[in-house]
Amino acid sequence: MLRGEICPYCKQPTKFVDSIEVYRWRSFGMIYLCAPCDAYVGVHKDTDKALGRLANEELRRWKNYAHFWFDKLWKNNYMSRKEAYTWLSEKLNLPSEYVHIGFFGIETCQKVGKVSQDLLDLLEGRQVQELIENLELKQSQ
Ligand SMILES: [Zn+2]
Repeated sequence: MLRGEICPYCKQPTKFVDSIEVYRWRSFGMIYLCAPCDAYVGVHKDTDKALGRLANEELRRWKNYAHFWFDKLWKNNYMSRKEAYTWLSEKLNLPSEYVHIGFFGIETCQKVGKVSQDLLDLLEGRQVQELIENLELKQSQ
């Protein structure tokens, strides 16, 4: 299933096609597609290796949600990308080689979004606190 050759929804073999089949207006490289389920997954550049399991529309939405919050951790420089994935693997209690949002089902994606939001709240809260403390320090000097 993780290799993309079998559709996880209907268990039928998928088709390895150009992504223009789903995006219509331009190609983003090759994908594994199950047209009846409207499920697909991209591949590592210039290979036939799937980036994860095939995702239907609902799962694609949850993957976007998970990425949106999780990516903020490293895009906003709270930690490196590597640190963020290490943190996530501890949070999910999964060995780091399995920690790819592309591998996750809906429930895990929801969890990723949730724990990332919680951590962001903490980190952002701390930043605000530091800002206030710095201001108070300056004023008392
Ligand atoms: Zn299918």
